[in-house]
Amino acid sequence: DLYGPSRRNSTGMDLSTAADRQALTAAVAALNSETLEAGPIIDGKLVKVGAADDRASPADLSCRLGRVWSATPAEVEAAYVAAKAAQPAWDALGGEGRAPILRAMADALETHRERLVAICAREAGKTFADGVAEVREAADFCRYYAYLAETQFAAPDTLRGPVGETNRLSLHGRGVFACISPWNFPLAIFTGQIAAALAAGNAVVAKPAEQTPLVAAEAVRLFHAAGLPAALLHLLPGDGPTVGQALVAHAACAGVAFTGGTETAWAINRTLAARQGPIVPFIAETGGLNAMFVDTTALREQVIDDVVASAFGSAGQRCSALRILFAPNDTADALIEGLKGAMDTLVVGDPADPRTDIGPVIDEEARAGLAAHLERLGTGARGLHQCEAPAGGHFFGPVLAEIPTAGFLQREVFGPILHVVRYDSANLAEAARPLVEAGYGLTLGVHSRLESFAEEVQRTVPAGNAYVNRSMIGAVVGVQPFGGEGLSGTGPKAGGPHALLRYAVERAVSVNI
Ligand code: GLU
Repeated sequence: DLYGPSRRNSTGMDLSTAADRQALTAAVAALNSETLEAGPIIDGKLVKVGAADDRASPADLSCRLGRVWSATPAEVEAAYVAAKAAQPAWDALGGEGRAPILRAMADALETHRERLVAICAREAGKTFADGVAEVREAADFCRYYAYLAETQFAAPDTLRGPVGETNRLSLHGRGVFACISPWNFPLAIFTGQIAAALAAGNAVVAKPAEQTPLVAAEAVRLFHAAGLPAALLHLLPGDGPTVGQALVAHAACAGVAFTGGTETAWAINRTLAARQGPIVPFIAETGGLNAMFVDTTALREQVIDDVVASAFGSAGQRCSALRILFAPNDTADALIEGLKGAMDTLVVGDPADPRTDIGPVIDEEARAGLAAHLERLGTGARGLHQCEAPAGGHFFGPVLAEIPTAGFLQREVFGPILHVVRYDSANLAEAARPLVEAGYGLTLGVHSRLESFAEEVQRTVPAGNAYVNRSMIGAVVGVQPFGGEGLSGTGPKAGGPHALLRYAVERAVSVNI
């Protein structure tokens, strides 16, 4: 059973009830009287070396949220030494011994849900709905990987061989895994990578995104409080070129799990290639140039709902988000008008206000990059439409921009900009060619009532996750194993039945009696 017979996905909160909304508003207010702290957490202790960096919220630059200390080479070394020493005993526990701690972590995440959602709102600019989804997904990863640990890392498999010989195959942790996670899922992906590495029997050194160490530090404290020995998980905040690079280059690094941009994945690959010592796996989940293909049989209202959610939800800051909508020539005008109308109803603003649909983008660099992209599209973009956005934070109003062909985009544009290409759905391959040539392969959307068209789109455009007649974001652990191919990453898919295998080594033993 790939799903886990007794496993349930986390149920989250009901934001349509005033009580649940108020619980979150109160949790945000409680943060006002606290200064959150993050820094290297080595053997369970917060290390405050050097000057702390003050953190504001991307939604309100005057809101002082917390202080952050970066890791130095001394903490990187200490983390690896402690983790390496502790890992063999953890591996020896077997999957059945490790699973209860991961389940306790899932429970702890749910117990502290309101606080975690509040920190996600303040630190990452996540709306309440997105924050609740973060906690659910983080808990789901822990429970799903606990299940995989129990089923795949318990007793060895016995294989058939000659009479008198016993052949067994078993899975083990590799050693110390470096987990490098992104700011767009600062809790879910941070926790998911760690849970996978731990479930497979590894110790972990984790580098959260530079923008979101505060919620990561909360998660590390919860792991330890849930019973994970402190030496098995160390937090190392800092930037990629120094801390990330040092984690990957370290001789004790037995594998890397990375989610982030394609360029960073190339840089990690180069560092791994230049290393002496063990040859280690690199699990990368990177960007996407994700498209949705609509034909004339599609139901317009449903398309509009799903496009708005896929392109603008989470301010477009998902690697799964829709970037290019292919609208059929015959119905494109009506579809584009409908989309503009729907965009005008979106509320862009404070993520900690339950009425908000779209929060800020993560930082000024992101906002400026999106603005520069619009400039570049310039005269090439027809039918440009942008929603209003408030001042005072890194807000960027969602944009719809028509472009003549998908060839106008070679690289992922990470934010709420939807590009629309008019096309002839009878000549799909030609319209899709520049997209396919760009080389990504993450998510793909189709809206059509013709099964043959949906299949043709899937044959034409390679993608790790295809969605037909629904939104193309929000993969659910154990239901839509998530991850792409080509420029979009290596696999194995997060939240899928094969997720743990590259975190592990296989050992075969043949015994003759
Ligand atoms: N798993 C997320 C989704 O399906 C996207 C993950 C990411 O952006 O890295 O929307």
